[in-house]
Amino acid sequence: MSTGQGSATNTSELLAFFRGEYVPLADARVNIMTHALHYGTGVFEGIRGNWNEEKGVVYIYRLREHYERLLLGCKLLMLDIPYSLEELCQITVELVERNSHRQDIYIRPLAYKSAELVANLKLQELASDFALITVPFGNYLGSDILRCCTSSWRRVDDPMIPARLKICGIYVNSILAKTEATLAGFDEAIILNHDGHVCEGSGENLFVVSKGKLITSSLEDNVLPGITRDTIIQLAQRELGIEVVERSIDRSELYLADEIFLTGTAAHLTPVVQLDNRPIADGNAGPISTKLQKMYFDIVVGRNPKYLHWCTAAQPRLVTA
Ligand code: PMP
Repeated sequence: MSTGQGSATNTSELLAFFRGEYVPLADARVNIMTHALHYGTGVFEGIRGNWNEEKGVVYIYRLREHYERLLLGCKLLMLDIPYSLEELCQITVELVERNSHRQDIYIRPLAYKSAELVANLKLQELASDFALITVPFGNYLGSDILRCCTSSWRRVDDPMIPARLKICGIYVNSILAKTEATLAGFDEAIILNHDGHVCEGSGENLFVVSKGKLITSSLEDNVLPGITRDTIIQLAQRELGIEVVERSIDRSELYLADEIFLTGTAAHLTPVVQLDNRPIADGNAGPISTKLQKMYFDIVVGRNPKYLHWCTAAQPRLVTA
């Protein structure tokens, strides 16, 4: 994917959607009393917009599916926001167009408990709001191949806080794992769940290639139902004719795998070549990971007509002086 020239990379020029209006990002501010700030009572999404230089548009990847997941989170956290799925998609295209991005971007919707009220833990009594920002975004993991470690932190279990939703507070779990991994010199953490099965990365789903099959942790193992995960499952089955198995994965299976890769909106598809200082297979990106990665990159930038329905075009508007 290319990064276009001439975009507004200075965030001071960007707009946000805040309290029902498009306002300068710098003016999108909340009060220190805001409930979500104290308790993590919000849900968010991470969506990518990929700049297609040839067509002069930003392709927003699987916009609808991201908002479907956000709305499920709203249901759980009793976040009553005044926008339908269609309206959320429209607001997003509008903001991306108004921000006139000509490069790859990250889109961050946030539905949160906006009540300026602390010492109240009753969701049903708290007002909610929705905000949206879009910012330029490049490589998230900082490397094309990953050296990972098994985290000493365990994934939150469903009866604690459901990992199947992108709940703000839950990310402390991911952040502890990512911080531990990076302070120890690794690129990313692999997190196990409460019963010791392999769960996911701090912000990515995990896939293992073993004996020609693709295996990924089942959703009941406290993983986020990733949109990239879904994309890769479909591509592997349809385009490569590979069998995909969703099941619990033992930790030891990782060390013995033919290939491992992580998937996520920010991370794309990135091969894991080392785990806990042991090489995975011969320590290089494997052939299935490489094929799927290439296919995925073409699709997200709108270069594969068969999957163009997963891409929503946003046309940058001219920036007026
Ligand atoms: N797991 C976690 C914990 C995540 O935060 C993410 C990023 N949203 C993913 C998996 C990948 O999900 P997606 O492909 O929808 O970005």
